[in-house]
Amino acid sequence: MARPIELVWRVSSHEQVILTAMAFSAIATLPSRIAQSGYNAQTIVSENLASADSGTPLAIGVDIGATAIKAAIVGVHGDLVESFHEPSPRTTSALQDFVHSVLKCAKLPVRGIGIGCKGIIDAASSRVKSLPGDLHFLEGLLLSEVIAAGDLPVSADNDARTALIAEVLWGAARGRRNVVMLTLGTGVGGAVLVDGAILRGAGDAGGHLGHVTVDPRGGLCICGNYGCLETLFSSRAIESDYWAHLHRAAPAKLSVGSAGQLPDTEAIFRAAAKGDECARYVLDRALEYLGAALVSFLHTFDPEIFILGGSIAAAGPQLIAPIQDKIAQRSKILLGREVPIVFQKTVGYGGVAGAAGLVFLQQRLLAI
Ligand SMILES: [Zn+2]
Repeated sequence: MARPIELVWRVSSHEQVILTAMAFSAIATLPSRIAQSGYNAQTIVSENLASADSGTPLAIGVDIGATAIKAAIVGVHGDLVESFHEPSPRTTSALQDFVHSVLKCAKLPVRGIGIGCKGIIDAASSRVKSLPGDLHFLEGLLLSEVIAAGDLPVSADNDARTALIAEVLWGAARGRRNVVMLTLGTGVGGAVLVDGAILRGAGDAGGHLGHVTVDPRGGLCICGNYGCLETLFSSRAIESDYWAHLHRAAPAKLSVGSAGQLPDTEAIFRAAAKGDECARYVLDRALEYLGAALVSFLHTFDPEIFILGGSIAAAGPQLIAPIQDKIAQRSKILLGREVPIVFQKTVGYGGVAGAAGLVFLQQRLLAI
C-alpha cells in the first residue's frame, strides 16, 4: 500500500530566495514550511498539496529511483494534488502494487500514467532497454505491461528527461528551446532540449551526460566506460574519495559512524565550509571535473540556460561559486556570451511532475 509522501527537499538560504521569488504555479499553491537548520533549510510539503477542481486534467506521475519510488497525482498546471512514496520496489509485482494503490487514491479520473525511470528507456514502447544496478529486474520489460493499468495509457522515459520536461513545462526552462540539465545525486543524469525537442539519439541513449569521459585514465563506471563524469562527480564519487582519505589516515574532521556509516555528501559540504582541509580537497577536485564537463556541454549544445538539479544542487552557492568564473572564462570565446547556470525550480518533485507531463504532452494537452 502506498503511503502519502512528505516531499522533503533541502535548500540553502540562497535557494530560499529563489523559491520565495518564483512565480511557479505549483509552488504558489503548495502549503509549505521552511525551517532553518544550519547548512540547509528544509522545505516540507504536506501530503495534500493542492485541491483539484473537477475540470483540471489530471495524470499520475511515477518516478522510479534507485532508493525510493515516488508518485503524485498531478494537474495540467504542474500542481501536485497528492503525493506518495515507498522504498524502491525490488520486484515487478511490488511496482505494480504501488502504482495501483496510487490509482485507487485518485478521487477524480486521470488521463494516464507517466513513468520516469533510470536507464535507457524506449519512450515509444515504454521498454526498459538497459538498467544496471538495483532496478535491473526491469530490464527488457515493457513498463506498460508491468503496470497493467487496463485501458489507461502508460508513457515512460528516462528520469533525467522527465526532470527536464518538468522544467520546460513549468520551471526554469519555460519558453526556452535549447537547454541542458544535469541531475546531480547518487549518479549523474543528463537531458538536453535541442531546438525545442528532447534529444534521444538513434537508440534512446542520447543525452546521458553523466557518462561522458572526463578522465580517460579514470575508474570503471557502472556503464562499462572508464572515467565518466559520474565516477568523479556524484554523491558516491565524493563519499568514496573522502573515505579513501580516511582510510589513508589523512587529517580529516569527519569520521566513520559507530554503525560503520560513511560521511555523506551533505556532511562533506558542511565540513568543507567549516574548514576541513580533506573535505575541501575532495570537493575542489570533484568540482574541477564538473566544471570541465560543463564547459564541454556548453560547447556541444550552445544552450540558452544550463540547469543543475538533483540532491547535490541543494549545496547552492557552494556548488557554483568555485567554478562559475572558470566556466565563463573557458567558454566565452567560442560562445561569445555567458550562459546562465541556474538551479532546478521543481526541486523535490520534478521527477513525478515531469512524468505526468509525458501524459499531457502525448495527449496534446501541453506542448513544448
Ligand atoms: Zn559511465
